[in-house]
Formats: sequence, C-alpha cells, structure tokens
Amino acid sequence: SRRPIHRALVSVFHKEGIEVLAQAFVQAGTEVVSTGSTAQKLAQLGVQVTPVEQVTGFPESLDGRVKTLDPHVHAGILADMTNSEHAQQLEQLGIKPFDLVVVNLYPFADTVRSGADEAATIEKIDIGGPSMVRGAAKNSATVAVITDPKDYALVAERVTEGTGFTLEERRYLAAKAFAHTAAYDATITQWTERQWQRPDSFTLQAAATTDAQEHDDQAQSLQFAQTYTRTWDLAHVLRYGENPHQQAALYIDPLHRQGFAHAEQLGGKPMSYNNYVDADAAWRAVWDFAPSIAVAVVKHNNPCGLAVADDVATAHKKAHACDPVSAYGGVIAANTTVTLAMAESVRPIFTEVIVAPDYEPEALELLQTKKKNLRILKVQEPPMSSRQIRQIDGGLLVQDTDLINALGDDPSSWKLVSGQPADEQTMKDLQFAWRAVRCVKSNAILLAHDQATVGIGMGQVNRVDSCNLSVERANTLADGLERARGAVAASDAFFPFADGPQILINAGVKAIVQPGGSIRDEEVIEAAQAAGITMYVTGTRHFFH
Ligand code: 5GP
Repeated sequence: SRRPIHRALVSVFHKEGIEVLAQAFVQAGTEVVSTGSTAQKLAQLGVQVTPVEQVTGFPESLDGRVKTLDPHVHAGILADMTNSEHAQQLEQLGIKPFDLVVVNLYPFADTVRSGADEAATIEKIDIGGPSMVRGAAKNSATVAVITDPKDYALVAERVTEGTGFTLEERRYLAAKAFAHTAAYDATITQWTERQWQRPDSFTLQAAATTDAQEHDDQAQSLQFAQTYTRTWDLAHVLRYGENPHQQAALYIDPLHRQGFAHAEQLGGKPMSYNNYVDADAAWRAVWDFAPSIAVAVVKHNNPCGLAVADDVATAHKKAHACDPVSAYGGVIAANTTVTLAMAESVRPIFTEVIVAPDYEPEALELLQTKKKNLRILKVQEPPMSSRQIRQIDGGLLVQDTDLINALGDDPSSWKLVSGQPADEQTMKDLQFAWRAVRCVKSNAILLAHDQATVGIGMGQVNRVDSCNLSVERANTLADGLERARGAVAASDAFFPFADGPQILINAGVKAIVQPGGSIRDEEVIEAAQAAGITMYVTGTRHFFH
C-alpha cells in the first residue's frame, strides 16, 4: 500500500523547517508545484519548482485570494489513482496526480490576537489552503497530506528513500489534517460570533407560539445555544489531574491570550490541576470587591478567609485569622500589588500558590528566595470569562458567568423586612458578607465582622448544617473568642424554614442578608422580628455548586 512520492504540491504560510523537505526533493528529483512565496523559497533552496500558475494557466489574483482554486490543481489532488476510471479521466484531461500535499494555513488566530482590524483579519481567512488539505485528506487512498511541520523530517525520509507512506500512515495524516481544518474553522466562527451580531431581519425560528414575549424569550435562548461553539488551544499537559491516576491538560482561548489561564509564573513548582482550580476561585473572589483591596485564602475551591482592608497586608492578616487551621496549604489571592509587609506575613504560612496583579520587587524577592516551592503567579487583568462550561456525561452545560453586579447586589435595592435599618458600619459588613458568600459553595452561610469573614459554613446539603458550621467555626477557631456574637450573616439562597436563621439568632448575629423568596418567608421574617434583629432581602441569589 506504499505510494512513492513523484509529485508534490507545497503551499505554506510558515516557512520554517522547509529546508529539510527541499533537500529531500532535490535529492529524489521530486516534481514540485508551489505557490508564490513558497515557490520562491524552494527555488532559493535549489528545488526545481513549477509555479502553480503554470499548472492552472491562470494568474495568482485578487490579492492572493485565488491561487490554487482551480480544477488543474484539485483534480490532481482528488483523483483516486487506485480507481482506473479516475486514472483514465485524469490522463484524458492532461492532468498529473499529486502524491503529496504540504500546506499550512494563514495564521488567523495570530492575526486576531495582534489586534489587526477587521479587513486585515478577514484577509487572513485561508480558503485555498483548507480546500487542498481537505481534498488531500479525503483522498488518503493515494495522497499523503502534511499540515504539521513536526512531520517534515519523516516526509523527507520517505521522499529520499523513495518508499512513500503506507495507507495506514496516510490515513493517520488525513485524520490529523481534518482536525486541523476543523479547529481552524471553529476559530473563525468564534471570531465572527464576537464580531458580528445577528441582524433583526433574521428572526430566529422559535417554536410557534401565540405569546409574543414567550416567543422572544425562546428565540433569545435559542440564539444563546446556537452561537455557542468554541475551540481551545492546548497550552500544556499537566503532571496529572485531580488525582495522580488521571491525565490532564490546560487549554486556552485561541483568540485572546489573556486571563487567569495565562498567568505569568514567577517562581515555584509547576502548577497542578488542583492549583489551577483553587487559584482561579481565589482570583475570582477577590475581584468581586474591587476597587476595594481584598485578599482571599482558598482551599479545595472554598474560601477559608476573605477580607477587605486599606492595605493588602492587613487584608491578608484578617483573611488568614478567619481560619488559620485551614489556611495551611492554601492558595492566596490579592487584587492589588503584594507589598513587602504582606510577603512577610505570608512567609511563615505554608502556601501552595499566591496570585496577584503584581509584586513589589522586595516582596517578590522575599517570596522567591524564602519560599522556593511557592507558586507565584502574576495576572494583570481581572477575570473576564462571560461563559462557563461544565461537562456532564454525554454533554456540556453552558451558562453565563454569575456576576456580582447582578440585579439585587446593589444595597439600595435591598428590602428591610425586620428590625432597624443597619447603621453605616453594619451596612458595610452586610455588603461585604453578601459579596463574600458568593464564592462559597452552596449551601453557604457566611458570618462577617469588620470587613472580614469570621465563620464560613460551606457546601452542606442543608442550610441548618451550614448555619451550625458557620457559628461553630466562628466560635472555635479563634482561641475562645465568640466571634458569631455581633457579627452579620449572609445566605447565598433563601432560608426554606426558620430553623436556620434561629441558629444564627441564638448565636448572637445582629443582622442577616438573604435573597428571600421562600414560601415560608413569613416564618423566617417573624423569627428575625421576634429577636429584634435586622434582616434585608436582596431578591437575587448566588448559588455556587
Ligand atoms: P504563498 O506565500 O506560498 O504564496 O502562500 C501560501 C499560503 O497560501 C498557504 O498558507 C496556503 O494555505 C494559502 N493558499 C494557497 N492557495 C490559496 C488560494 O487559492 N486562496 C487563498 N486564500 N489562500 C491560498
């Protein structure tokens, strides 16, 4: 099934590595057909090239948009030479078949990333290249297709030896080529989705309904679902996944090399899968408080401390003090430059990762030299993902990112349902708690005092347990201090019964903020009123699963 390579078609945007091929072509006397600058390059390397215009009888035209799009080229690629009729037809047409097609495509993603304007970006949508690649891949019965410069060495060997590739090898190369053009088109789609909106004249065909509003809602969600296509670039393979027996890798956005996944690492061991998960959660948590200075300490995707202060070192001290036991081996995030004072307070604490927009030079030096294993990450932009993906068996769930500035996060829209309006300090703490509870896994109850968490009840399967946990942690983790007394509380979703808030009331919590909306809201509010504590309802919930 080997097919020796007599005639090759070469058209590559990136010319690196082409020397190896050129040498092999010269040595084997291969007939080579090539486009514009590729032909020039091959000729410089001593290859006898036939310019593609000579094959097509048509000049390269329209700024290179039409170079190889011609039957003289494509019949030569697509003729299945194991089929005698194809071979006969080709001969009648006076066209010679290709045995090898080497193409790499216009760099579309690079062009977008470079900030090129729309016209320049469109010009970098390769048309002839993918056509040749797909044609050759379809015809793997007789043609070998190369899209990856890493394969040049093997091609060169097969060309020089005169053996060509086996059918099995050609099929493998074809599969690789189809994956390449599929990813290429998906990247273009991703760009067009961001660049061009659906015009009103193209109403989406939602299921027929008499209710105009419902129709519109359906059309909206249909558009959301239809336009969600995405392709990701492999950034690097990770040592392992959540556990050592799981393989894992990091993929990144091909169009925008920004965001947490692109963090610059300034020290420490390579990032692990779990490091990425936890540090991303911590990173998101601190930015919910911008422009205030905030520090988060995260373990296993849950905060074990979160605080706001006038300076970053104080914010860290307060966040750490919430739960010093759990902070061991945690991840620390700050939403502002890490100072020397903060680095000094981090120094004695065993920490896996620290992430911040920047570091004072002395802070960085201290962390780099005194904490050799600490992974030090620098990320300059705040979190920016607008969509989240989660895999389920056989499918993917996609949703808009839960943003903190959702309706109901502005305290002016909160409704006072019990007690006196909060004084200024209490209100600040309630606002802090409402923001902070969002990064706690549901069911989440969070106690706060003086712009810092003091007790977090996370991830319980009922809200009573979360209330108990928050109180217990507030009162046991700080050397006998009863930190629940006088604290404020936030709940990420409504209280289904009065039993949860009663636990908080019994512990001495002075004010509660919660979404409301339970069918037993009245019982919940009555419990607060009976205790004389302040309660606000926000109307928005922030589940986090
Ligand atoms: P060269 O620099 O050799 O002139 O062009 C090489 C590039 O042109 C390759 O990336 C190839 O995919 C692309 N290409 C080849 N034929 C055509 C064509 O007919 N139209 C367009 N738009 N691109 C082509």
